[in-house]
Amino acid sequence: MCGTFRFGIRIAPVPPAPEISLLPSPSINAGHQCPICSYPGLRMKPYDLWPPPADLELTPPYEDLLGRASYEVCLRCGFESGNDDNPGTNSPMSFDKYRREWEAQGSPWLAKPEDAGRADFGNIP
Ligand SMILES: [Zn+2]
Repeated sequence: MCGTFRFGIRIAPVPPAPEISLLPSPSINAGHQCPICSYPGLRMKPYDLWPPPADLELTPPYEDLLGRASYEVCLRCGFESGNDDNPGTNSPMSFDKYRREWEAQGSPWLAKPEDAGRADFGNIP
């Protein structure tokens, strides 16, 4: 065998599999959760510090405790962080109070998730 070579089949290392989300619809479910209705499709954190520490007692306006608000309108319940909890001329509304009023109306969807891409979404009443 001396002086000869054996040529085996070299198997290239298998590249790592791409990360695959187990969630059925990443465009909706990979987002952040709404503090009111738990809808998981918010594109941004509602506040800089989100989720809030469990031991933090939350009182509106939440920007004071949680940092800058996103002002994103939730597609499901319509809550707008930074606006509904800090409306300026009206008294601030807590997450609980907003949720109770929304549930009292039958928990309606503000829009369908497929409307999220609409340019005029923020103007839907
Ligand atoms: Zn919501």
